[in-house]
Amino acid sequence: MKLVFIGPPGIGKGTYAKAISQKYGIPHISTGDIFREEIAKGSELGRRVKEYVDKGLLVPDEIVIEVVKRRLSQPDCAKGFILDGFPRTLRQAEALDQITRIDAVLLFNAPLEIIIERVSGRRICPNCGAIYHVKWRPPKTPDVCDVCGARLIKRRDDEPDVVRRRYEIYLQTFTPIIEYYRRKGLLVEVDASHEAEEVVMEIERILKRLGLIKE
Ligand code: AMP
Repeated sequence: MKLVFIGPPGIGKGTYAKAISQKYGIPHISTGDIFREEIAKGSELGRRVKEYVDKGLLVPDEIVIEVVKRRLSQPDCAKGFILDGFPRTLRQAEALDQITRIDAVLLFNAPLEIIIERVSGRRICPNCGAIYHVKWRPPKTPDVCDVCGARLIKRRDDEPDVVRRRYEIYLQTFTPIIEYYRRKGLLVEVDASHEAEEVVMEIERILKRLGLIKE
């Protein structure tokens, strides 16, 4: 089950990937997470990519492709994987085709207004990183972290104007990739405007239909 997940920031792609990854025992590989971890560790790779990631610029293709190639060659990827945040350029998509054969590309869609509503309710704990939502996952005491008692904050990235701008950048970046996979007949669109549990069930229905998981 070799999958690529594509979707705008704030659509919940990470949540869906985590659910499918845990249930079916395949790794969730996010190139953004890999880079952030390497930067935090201060590794050689981390030092090479830090400047790009800090500025929100694309890391050069050669570096990203090498990282993904190495990650996909690890034993835990034998049964499959979910790629998240990769490919982001046509060169990366073509390189991925050289590395392996992708079974399906899931494109998560929802109206921008729904994404804004979801994201603007998000609150995070600046101390321990716990994530809440005022409507769907409220803390026991408003604005206070259940885990460590710190006062919760709203990320600047989650403000409507920033979400709109990131959505535009997402469209510019991913439209060629989406078209690439549509032409190959691998693209499946998933309506992500419902609650996370329902979206995950819809993904499972799709994977069954494609014969990638059993009934
Ligand atoms: P993300 O968490 O997917 O938004 O990724 C965070 C940052 O990592 C991006 O802003 C880029 O700087 C870098 N990055 C992640 N994936 C890629 C990729 N496939 N190609 C180039 N840069 C990437």
